[in-house]
Amino acid sequence: MKVDVVTPEQAQATTSVQQNSSSETVSQMLVQHTQKIVINNGCIGCGKCVATARNTFAMQGSRAQVISQEYIQSASVQDAIAHCPVSAITIIEA
Ligand code: SF4
Repeated sequence: MKVDVVTPEQAQATTSVQQNSSSETVSQMLVQHTQKIVINNGCIGCGKCVATARNTFAMQGSRAQVISQEYIQSASVQDAIAHCPVSAITIIEA
């Protein structure tokens, strides 16, 4: 079985093509796959992100973890990022 590997640069180029053909849903999906939510070691385990975006964050012991990347562009994830008291949540280019 052949598997195509796409670099982030190729994904961005594909996103531009898709936007030009007015397929916003496909381009949003590509953006989701080139970005990733991460929690750094500064997490103090307050649980605010879990309370704000339960479908994306969960507590594991005394720290939060990301359980899904599916809702990366949702308002709840943006709220969680904005309200983390130690700014431990970021979105990186994957
Ligand atoms: S809101 Fe920030 S500090 Fe609180 S649990 Fe989530 S990542 Fe950790």
